[in-house]
Amino acid sequence: MKLNDLQTPWTLARRAQKMNPSVLREILKVAERPGIVSFAGGLPSPATFPVAEFADACARVLRDDGRAALQYAASEGYEPLREAVAALLPWNVEPGQVLITTGSQQGLDLVAKVLIDAGSRVLVETPTYLGALQAFAPMEPAVEGVASDAEGVDVEAFSARADAARFLYVLPNFQNPTGRTMSEARRAALVERAAALGVPLVEDNPYGDLWFEAPPPLPLTARNPQGCIYLGSFSKVLAPGLRLGYLVAPPAVAPKLLQAKQAADLHAPSFNQRVVAEVMKDGFLQRHVPTIRALYRAQRDAMLAALSREMAGLDVTWNVPDGGMFLWARLPRGMDARSLLPEAVERGVAFVPGAPFFAGETDPRALRLSFVTATAEQIDRGIALLAATIREHRGR
Ligand code: PMP
Repeated sequence: MKLNDLQTPWTLARRAQKMNPSVLREILKVAERPGIVSFAGGLPSPATFPVAEFADACARVLRDDGRAALQYAASEGYEPLREAVAALLPWNVEPGQVLITTGSQQGLDLVAKVLIDAGSRVLVETPTYLGALQAFAPMEPAVEGVASDAEGVDVEAFSARADAARFLYVLPNFQNPTGRTMSEARRAALVERAAALGVPLVEDNPYGDLWFEAPPPLPLTARNPQGCIYLGSFSKVLAPGLRLGYLVAPPAVAPKLLQAKQAADLHAPSFNQRVVAEVMKDGFLQRHVPTIRALYRAQRDAMLAALSREMAGLDVTWNVPDGGMFLWARLPRGMDARSLLPEAVERGVAFVPGAPFFAGETDPRALRLSFVTATAEQIDRGIALLAATIREHRGR
């Protein structure tokens, strides 16, 4: 049931009116029908989850530290995990600056609570992560999309909108939904301009470790830690079901984010935090993450090859992501991804229309394709079905 259709005698908070059913969830329900090749999901490949390592680590945590692992704990997070996170980040971070969150999605919620009043101006990329728009919406901001190109946010367009903006939300690496990466030059220019204008940057980086050929340029936060909040996640490098992420914020806001975290859930699950610290103890991530990169890179290559083969002569364009899980495509002129979707599902393939990812004016031709959960054989079949759908739609 859609919340906005809810007939209720209750008087709901104004913010509840701002909460919308996730468009993606509705689409995913269809995509989960048996026999459908789905490029719609935002899920990591379960083939990458280190189940055996977790089984061992859980047993060790329960054996060695069971009572503490099952007890309430500090809101900041489990100290050895904070140390491990600080050691992973490519700039000088003290463990005391790391706040362990219940997924980076909670980081977005905390940022929204601490920085947004009703009517506050909040800037986002065009397009941007839908889950961030959902996290911000209950705080009733005026969200504005900043013009962006293949290199990321347009710095002049950002400057033009900077006045009284509470922050700019950016995903520099293998962005969800476009898969694009912000260039070195753009990062340097954006950080410098944001500092000059006094606009904080909220940097979301769940995909940065999943590069295919070469690591991406340094994070924005590494260039100006006092002007940025950095959000990271274990969801894409270990497993999303753990619901563990982290944030690093400057002293100007860190205590408020901690208080918001206390109010939200007291602390992230202590057991999960200890298990992750245990799994990571002897450099496991350094051995594990390369296997995810290799798998996702092969999957991306399979999708690129299938697109080149099947879309020939169809006026469909797409980018070549250098990492992450998503590829961004554009349908032929005059076509709308939302109206194409039911026809595609009818044929047996699903994708996510791009429109919900835009804060302002949308691009109806855009669509997001995940290349990580389908097999290479399914990718071939699914892209062929998508091409057939486009061909038939165009013929009408
Ligand atoms: N940010 C982005 C850009 C994402 O794609 C996701 C997951 N889809 C999240 C944040 C939330 O991730 P999690 O809460 O699992 O860390």
